Amino acid sequence: KNEEDAAHAAASLADAGAPTIFDKIIRKEIPSTVVYEDEKVLAFRDINPQAPVHIVLIPKVRDGLTQLSKADERHKDILGHLLCMTAVIAKQEGIEDGYRVVINNGPSACQSVYHLHLHIIGGRQLKWPPG
Ligand code: 5GP
Repeated sequence: KNEEDAAHAAASLADAGAPTIFDKIIRKEIPSTVVYEDEKVLAFRDINPQAPVHIVLIPKVRDGLTQLSKADERHKDILGHLLCMTAVIAKQEGIEDGYRVVINNGPSACQSVYHLHLHIIGGRQLKWPPG
């Protein structure tokens, strides 16, 4: 319940334009282990990994995309680029045999950071369905 309340508060703040922790990671104000970067996206190791490989992949510019449900026509290019880069990153990480790409959308899905991001998870046998 507390985490859900915190997520609702974080979502409102981000929708109002407030920065998230990922802005600091993009600006390298807080350290992260970057595994891939280009002009549009940044991928880094999750600080709380749920598998041997757990990468967070984000657009460098949020442009209103606090969560997937806010996507509209103008986000098509960046969403396509993010999805395409998952395969490149998975191969680089040596998990191309099987991995999961997850987007948590909203408090009920345990989204905690309101800057769209894809989780790339692998390096062990994953279970289905997820919790
Ligand atoms: P969400 O729960 O919103 O889908 O995913 C946010 C993810 O970002 C979580 O898995 C969390 O561990 C990760 N995360 C949050 N803060 C940091 C940070 O400062 N550094 C890194 N590397 N990952 C973070």
